[in-house]
Amino acid sequence: MNRKYRKTLIAGNWKMNKTATETKEFMTKLKAIMPKGRWCDIALCVPAVSIGTAVRAVRETRIGIGAQNCNANPSGAYTGEISTDMLVDAGCKYVILGHSERRAMGETDGEINAKVHAALNAGLIPIVCVGESLEHRENGITEEWVSMQVKLALKDVDAEKIRKVVIAYEPIWAIGTGRTATPEQAEAVCEHIRAVVRKLYTSKHARAMTILYGGSMNEKNAYELLAQPDIDGGLIGGASLVAEKFVQIIEASNQPIA
Ligand code: PEP
Repeated sequence: MNRKYRKTLIAGNWKMNKTATETKEFMTKLKAIMPKGRWCDIALCVPAVSIGTAVRAVRETRIGIGAQNCNANPSGAYTGEISTDMLVDAGCKYVILGHSERRAMGETDGEINAKVHAALNAGLIPIVCVGESLEHRENGITEEWVSMQVKLALKDVDAEKIRKVVIAYEPIWAIGTGRTATPEQAEAVCEHIRAVVRKLYTSKHARAMTILYGGSMNEKNAYELLAQPDIDGGLIGGASLVAEKFVQIIEASNQPIA
C-alpha cells in the first residue's frame, strides 16, 4: 500500500451469508471491537435484504455499507433486480461489480461496464472485480486476461469519474479455496493493473487508484499481502463473516506510510 497517494480500503463481501438478524448481531459485535484509528476505509457488502439493517446498525460509525450487484437500468420491468438509485436511497456507499461468482452465472464484460457507469452516475463507489482462472495462469495469460477485463469494465469511463473506482484483483483459483496468491504473485498483477490504468488515463490517476487483493485473505496472511506497494487493501469473503477476524485484517492494514 502507499497511503501517501491513495486510500486503503478493507472491504468484506458477505456473499449469500447472514440473515438481517445475524447482520445486526455482527454489527453490534464489530462496533464494540473496532479499532479507533482511521488509517483505512471500511466497507461491508451485505445481501440486499440486509442493507437497511446494516446501514441503521453502522450509523455514526465509519463503516460504509455496500451491495454485491446492481442493475444498470434506472427502473422498469426487471423482476428481481435492484437499481443503483435504490441502493443509494437505502444508504449504500459501495457496490461490488463483476465478481467472478456473478461472471460464472453469465454476467458479461459489457454488462459489467454498463453497471460501472450506472454506479458512478448514481454516486456509488464501484468495486470492480477482475481475475484469472487457474487455466489462464497455467497458460501464462494472466496479465493479458486481467488487462482485457480492466479495459472492458472501464470503457468510456471519463477521467473525472475514474477517481471513484476501486479495482479488486481476485484470482478465481484463490477465492474461497484457502489457497492465497503469494504476496509476490498478487503484487505483480496489482502492479500490472496500475500500469493498465496509467495507459488508459494518466500516471496521476494510476497513482491515486485504490487496488485491492481478494482471494482467501485472512487475519494470518493480510499483513504481508497489504505490505506490497500496489495492494491498497483487501476484498475479503470468508474472513469478513467473523468480526474478530475482520478486525484483525483492519489492524493489519495499519502499516507505516511509505
Ligand atoms: C470474495 O468473495 O471476494 C473472496 C475473496 O472470498 P474469500 O476471501 O472467501 O476467498
